[in-house]
Amino acid sequence: MSRTADLHADVGEVLLTEDDIRAKTAELGRRITADYAGRPLTLVSVLKGSLPFMADLMRQIDLPLRIDLMEVSSYGGTATETSGLVRIIKDLSASISGEDVLLVEDIIDTGLTLNYLVRYLRGKNPASLRICTLLDKPARRLVDIPVDYRGFEIPDQFVVGYGLDYSERYRNLRFVGVLRPEVYSEAG
Ligand code: 5GP
Repeated sequence: MSRTADLHADVGEVLLTEDDIRAKTAELGRRITADYAGRPLTLVSVLKGSLPFMADLMRQIDLPLRIDLMEVSSYGGTATETSGLVRIIKDLSASISGEDVLLVEDIIDTGLTLNYLVRYLRGKNPASLRICTLLDKPARRLVDIPVDYRGFEIPDQFVVGYGLDYSERYRNLRFVGVLRPEVYSEAG
């Protein structure tokens, strides 16, 4: 069987199990529920990587909630690195002016994508804007971003699973693991 046909075999170390992720998502949901204390909240998430986290997190938040989805792609870069030049493929579907907004991200690496998004969303005049990320790779940060809710700090390794892809694969894994470097070096 070729490597890319066996999703599990392509992953070396499992960094976060399904249970780890479930427990952390519940904890973040409780904190967010307490911090906003009954105020309506708009969750804005960025496709496609944040989809599982968004779906799980929203069900752990006990507030009057609205959700919206954006999709962005970065120009240039490589399959495992972002360039920081961001193009909006799908914009918000409703105004966030005057709303409390929580941006829900899968992972912050260099921070360039998020930096762009934060500026973009601030320009839409929300009442407040906070950031929640499941994963944070602080070792590679190029821009300083205030993260309000952080799930896990992870080392500087390329990870897949629970929404995160390599060449659009592995998003459906229930855990987060380190992709074996052979997989992307073989792909060229
Ligand atoms: P940044 O702009 O912070 O460098 O990168 C953010 C985006 O790069 C993430 O939303 C994600 O799409 C991608 N990314 C960064 N690190 C990883 C990683 O370890 N694995 C995967 N699959 N994507 C990553």
